[in-house]
Amino acid sequence: MKSVSWWERPVLWAQQIRQEPGAENLRRFVPLVHEAMKTREQFRALSDRKLQQAATSLTSTSLEKDRDLVRYLALASEAAYRTLGLDPFEEQLLAAASMLRGRVVDMATGEGKTLVGFIVAAGLGVMGRQVHVLSANEYLAARDAAHGSVFFEVFDMQSGAVAESMSRSERTQVYGCDVVYATVHQVGFDMLRDRQRTPGTSRMLPQLDAAVFDEIDAVLLDDAMVPLVLAGEADPAPEEAALTAVVGELVEGADFEVDGERRGVSFTDGGLAKVEQTLGVSDLYAPERFELLTAANVALHARALVERDVHYIIVDGQIQLINDARGRVSDRQRWPDGLHAAVERKEGLVVTRQSEVLDQILVESVARSYLSLTGMSGTAREAAERLHDDLQLRTGMVPTHRRCVRVDEPDRLFSTVVLRDESAAEFVCAAHQVGRPVLVGTANVGESERFAQLLAERGVTASVLNARNDAQEAEVIARAGRFGAVTVSTQMAGRGVDIQLDQQARDAGGLLVVGLSRYESTRLDRQLRGRSGRQGDPGTSVFFTSLEDAVVSRHIEINEPPISVADDGRITDPRFLHLYGHAQRVAEGKLSQLHRTTRKYNKIVDAHSEIFLKTRERILVEEEAFDEYLDQVWLNGPEQGARWRDEPDRTLAVEVVLHQLDRAWSGHVNLLTATLEGIHLRVLGRLNPLDEFNRVAIQDFLTLGARARDAVREVLDAAPANADSLADLGLRRPSSTWTYMVTDNPFMSQADHILAFIAKKTRGEKLPPLTYK
Ligand code: ADP
Ligand code: MG
Repeated sequence: MKSVSWWERPVLWAQQIRQEPGAENLRRFVPLVHEAMKTREQFRALSDRKLQQAATSLTSTSLEKDRDLVRYLALASEAAYRTLGLDPFEEQLLAAASMLRGRVVDMATGEGKTLVGFIVAAGLGVMGRQVHVLSANEYLAARDAAHGSVFFEVFDMQSGAVAESMSRSERTQVYGCDVVYATVHQVGFDMLRDRQRTPGTSRMLPQLDAAVFDEIDAVLLDDAMVPLVLAGEADPAPEEAALTAVVGELVEGADFEVDGERRGVSFTDGGLAKVEQTLGVSDLYAPERFELLTAANVALHARALVERDVHYIIVDGQIQLINDARGRVSDRQRWPDGLHAAVERKEGLVVTRQSEVLDQILVESVARSYLSLTGMSGTAREAAERLHDDLQLRTGMVPTHRRCVRVDEPDRLFSTVVLRDESAAEFVCAAHQVGRPVLVGTANVGESERFAQLLAERGVTASVLNARNDAQEAEVIARAGRFGAVTVSTQMAGRGVDIQLDQQARDAGGLLVVGLSRYESTRLDRQLRGRSGRQGDPGTSVFFTSLEDAVVSRHIEINEPPISVADDGRITDPRFLHLYGHAQRVAEGKLSQLHRTTRKYNKIVDAHSEIFLKTRERILVEEEAFDEYLDQVWLNGPEQGARWRDEPDRTLAVEVVLHQLDRAWSGHVNLLTATLEGIHLRVLGRLNPLDEFNRVAIQDFLTLGARARDAVREVLDAAPANADSLADLGLRRPSSTWTYMVTDNPFMSQADHILAFIAKKTRGEKLPPLTYK
């Protein structure tokens, strides 16, 4: 036992708890922890069997009363100790108690959030909830589920993890467990698959109940607006290949113009004329050519702005996208379809299957589908305000178990990227000379490879990680704290894996974290720093930055050069350090604006989807609902539908109805996607793009039902007498479906941009370029 408990160190509390909007002091839960530590004593003497009895006797206790929560925490501590060999720290119990009371907790890296997750999950299980613990990637989900199962068994709870490779029946089985480990993406994809369910198949997912998000800010902030997509095959559009060809021949400056920051591109009149000529159309801006105009802009965008090694890499003849901020690469991440194909054509690759979006859902909408949610993260603090405003969650800080002694040095700012990297490379080499382990964080995959090359030129071999393979990278990152290790990584790489120091590394000063340029939010910077100094370890973090960093050049303009620049290019003028911080705040502001805009656009889609799914579900499961539906189909002559009311034809008719509803819905979703992509073109002359979008969405949704009914009637009226499958009726569900997430959607910022455009438009200026942020 420590001589002074941490809750008796008021200074610490004062330091740790900043009163930010949405933040809450967790001190109120401290007495519970205190009590739990005392109560725990009475369980120590119990035999394993008796302990298990005590644990299972808690089943279906609400834990609302403090007394019950205390008893649970005490039992869980003893169970964790016996099964996992981990004796939960008071801080971990504080986190668990707070989360079981609905708070989100900020808890530093290495403080043992995995164990906290176990305790919270089992606690929710005791309360009769079905729990999903949502991890940052599949590797972590599998790891944690495997680790925690012995603990959950004490409470007679089954646990499992969802893996991408699993079949429907395996998934269904895992989703039946009391505690399910998964990624939010997997859950979202399975929701989409469940939505396409036909009479023969059963649901994989039960009603979503309680969620515990590990790294909650990554999911609910960074990934919140990422659409998860279920796609099926579609017929390719022939003009697109021609478009790419002609756009490929255009000349920058003459045929198109790129704006100074290389974020926007637009055709000149001459360029547009060339495109029109090739396509054989007279006016690309005519309303009926709207889709073609969008496609032309997409092709130009791919040609001029989307860069290899920054936005994508090519592996085995395939485009793999890089999520800019995290340097994460995954083959299931795609851009909007047209852009993906356009880049494939630009690179001369085989164009992958053209797909058609069958359905989609935003990550945030998946999260909102849970009845309750809580979470933890090393950087929840910065997210507190947003978590509060968006999801009415309150966030509190949990103090570290041991004092953090990491030294966060001030930034070293340089005039250019080249000088920044040279200086950083020298710095890394110097630390490496004495064997100090170094972790370098870079902004993207291209940079990580360039920097590793700089180190190689100086005789230092670094392990390079860019989140291509979570499992392998976990091994590498786990070794990043060893004496002499040098690791260069993008932001997401090796996430969630503990970096432990060996004794020699500790003696050499612990892990040195070097950031190459700051990220677009201080939250991400802090995530990188947090890799060092875990559990009281020694460590240092420092960022090497430059005025050419994207954070600066994308968001502000620097008009006068700094005066005091040292020989090595280092800028000491404090105004410029200040300016850099300002640029980062501008970036943060833009990101949250974008987030809000995207949410606004999706509000109506979510509402429509809810109505649609309710109808679909009722037709599937309620006999009466289906009968009513048939009445609607043959309003003028109900007797026509008679054949389809009874078996054996009835089941087939249900399938037809669902099929046509799904077709109509998919058409709706595709229309909305296209509208969003091209909305800046559509709003010419109109004042509010959101109103315009909503108008299109509502108008189409209102006719969706009628379109589906017409299609049903047409098919059923023409059905041959012996038809007994969709194929007999000339219908076909997509023979294969696949899922992906749309990352870094270059058009996501479009909505934002429109506002600026409208302002310009009213002043009579020309069409703004497409932007890429
Ligand atoms: P986080 O997710 O907060 O970064 P982890 O859950 O990965 O941290 O845990 C970091 C390390 O701390 C792991 O090696 C884990 O086994 C260890 N650990 C967690 N809780 C305890 C504890 N109560 N006692 C001892 N070690 C612990
Ligand atoms: Mg973790």
